[in-house]
Amino acid sequence: MADTNAEKFGRRLVGLGVSRGVGRGRVVFLRQGNRPLIRSVVPESGVQDEILRFRTAVEAAKLQLRDLSKSPANNEEHPVSDIFGVHLLILESSLIEKTESAIREKRINAEWALRDLVAEYSDRQASLADEHFRDKYLDIEDVANRLTRAMRGGTSSVDLEPHSVVVARELRPSAVIELAKHHPAGVITETGGWTSHMSIIAREFHLPMVTGIKNAEKLLSSGDLVVVDGNAGEVLLDQDPTKGKAVGRILARGNSAGENESPPHLFTTDGVEVIIRANAEDPLVYDRAKELGARGIGLFRSESLVGENGILPSEDEQFDAYIAVAKAVGGDAVAIRTFDISAVHLSGNIDDCEANPALGLRAIRAGLTDPEMLRTQLRAILRASTAGKVDIILPMISNVEEIIQARILIGTVREELLDQGVRAGDPRVGIMVEVPSAVIAAAQMVRHADFICLGTNDLVQYLLAVDRDNDAVANWYQTLHPAVLLSIKSVIDSAMDGGIPTTVCGEMAGSPFYVPVLVGLGAREISIHNNSIKSVANLITGISSADANALVKTLSNCETARETEARLREYYLANWKDLFPPGIINSRHR
Ligand code: PEP
Ligand code: MG
Repeated sequence: MADTNAEKFGRRLVGLGVSRGVGRGRVVFLRQGNRPLIRSVVPESGVQDEILRFRTAVEAAKLQLRDLSKSPANNEEHPVSDIFGVHLLILESSLIEKTESAIREKRINAEWALRDLVAEYSDRQASLADEHFRDKYLDIEDVANRLTRAMRGGTSSVDLEPHSVVVARELRPSAVIELAKHHPAGVITETGGWTSHMSIIAREFHLPMVTGIKNAEKLLSSGDLVVVDGNAGEVLLDQDPTKGKAVGRILARGNSAGENESPPHLFTTDGVEVIIRANAEDPLVYDRAKELGARGIGLFRSESLVGENGILPSEDEQFDAYIAVAKAVGGDAVAIRTFDISAVHLSGNIDDCEANPALGLRAIRAGLTDPEMLRTQLRAILRASTAGKVDIILPMISNVEEIIQARILIGTVREELLDQGVRAGDPRVGIMVEVPSAVIAAAQMVRHADFICLGTNDLVQYLLAVDRDNDAVANWYQTLHPAVLLSIKSVIDSAMDGGIPTTVCGEMAGSPFYVPVLVGLGAREISIHNNSIKSVANLITGISSADANALVKTLSNCETARETEARLREYYLANWKDLFPPGIINSRHR
């Protein structure tokens, strides 16, 4: 997508804006293993300390490897000592010396110096035909990972300078959270879409972010001054002094669209109540949502508690997290979604990635296949549900049997707790409707559920067969596709006929452009991130549900998302122009 023809400075790289706002800063590259790897410059006075830190890690790694070669797992059947012997030799090799020279000469942190050398080896080894030599690279990489972990010793060894713009191929959600603590000016990635979890979190932290900048690592250099325009979906290389004014204007315009503190009203102008709930996993985030006017938590993504390498939280750790929010919401409910994770999340090992993870053993399927994991989680939720109003959401339901099985398990776990003298509540059980089978069979589904949580992120993905994380197909990810709108209508109607409520979740619900459409389709509860509450509430209170409904009826004449978007834009400009935050109506929304 990037424009490669222009001069480097003043050049615009066009991508996809996934988190609004504009930030300007110097490029810092970041690569990820289990935790983000950051390149930082070491001051001259710190070089010796950095080398010492590296040497300490080398010694620690040697001790680990010697211990490992003596471990009981190292027996005749599984002789691993050879491997560890090779790894020990690598720690004695020129790799160590070369890393130290790179720290000294380039004045960069040890992790990055090592990573550069390993990348060099990788390029050389990959071109070799002999498999034996190619495999050697894997050993080197393995040792490098061990050293990196040892250098970190559980604490972050690198600091991101203020006003950095982080550039990465893609980011894990946990990395975005870690980065947010350093307040980067913006984030640029090569891949990822609007509904990728990294993008959702970037929006939560108000980090301007642009994805889809292919070859960013080639087009940008470390230290380049760039502007990340998350509104326009562009990156501007900003070294030319004549561009200063334009950049200032972009910054001023981009950051004026933020939320202010005033709480919203929750009725349309013709008196229809639309409840805003929060997407939150933390009492502090919820407290802020409540100040803004949210009532309860409509979506608690419990997989946020799963650690790096797929380490699952214990029952008590989960209980602590759930009871904290249960107390925070009080009489308003928190809906805790059981782990929406896949095999690769659980093992933390990329080799466990299924060919089609989005269609694989994930979410409710993983829970029912490994009932111990689900049972532990249910125990924690049921125990916490005595402290407040707690609901359970079952993710990615595709047939009624899953709901029946899960409800039986919930009943059994509850009985067990009570038999053990442990207090347990009686939560409502809702289902995520986000795959086509659940939409088409919604009438059957609602008979078995207490409420519906309509996951629009996945609904668009699965309905249109378009990977939500793949920016190469971003043009096919069409929220306004007629099939999506018809599906939403049909689910809301089925739930209403069955006498149960629907909460609309996903990024569609938090985007002002789509909110009148949802109200017109009959949505009366939505669950959104804090940073959307103010603008969404402003819209809800500024429109009439009758107008929204009439507008939606006219959309049935539109055959494509493009036509629907144009129709909405025309209507909004003519009727509700002042209700939208600046720049929203004229941005692209498909
Ligand atoms: C969704 O799919 O719309 C949703 C709310 O859940 P997630 O984004 O976590 O898949
Ligand atoms: Mg989903």
